Amino acid sequence: MQKKIKPVSLPKKIKPARKPQKIARKPAPPKNNHLNETERKKLQTERAQVTTELAHLRAELQTAPEATGDEVDLAVYEREKNLALVQRLEQKLAEIDHVLHNAKKGKYGICERCGKPIDPARLAALPETTHCVKCKNELEQLARRAAMR
Ligand SMILES: [Zn+2]
Repeated sequence: MQKKIKPVSLPKKIKPARKPQKIARKPAPPKNNHLNETERKKLQTERAQVTTELAHLRAELQTAPEATGDEVDLAVYEREKNLALVQRLEQKLAEIDHVLHNAKKGKYGICERCGKPIDPARLAALPETTHCVKCKNELEQLARRAAMR
């Protein structure tokens, strides 16, 4: 392997004023396709929080004491609430992992449904999102319609 040796003593003046423009073989990739450091940290922090919360909730669900009498209703209610929360957090964790996976392939911030870049403001607020606002709304409408059946 030959390394390029930088000319140390050469004056920089001889630089040509204009470089001839290279013809790009591939179209330029969308701007947001990789995680920047802030986004990565944000996602990782969020992931750690969700993981901790999940572990906590799961432990609570396992150690929940058998309730008796009037406490049963409350205990059942609490348990169902925690179970629902666990499900939500598991989904969120999956979403975060999904986004991290997409980012590795250089598809961060690209809507999975329409392939268009997701609004950066939306990404900043919701880094685990994989859909643009338009598609997310449409998907929610579809889900609502399916749920009504
Ligand atoms: Zn979309």
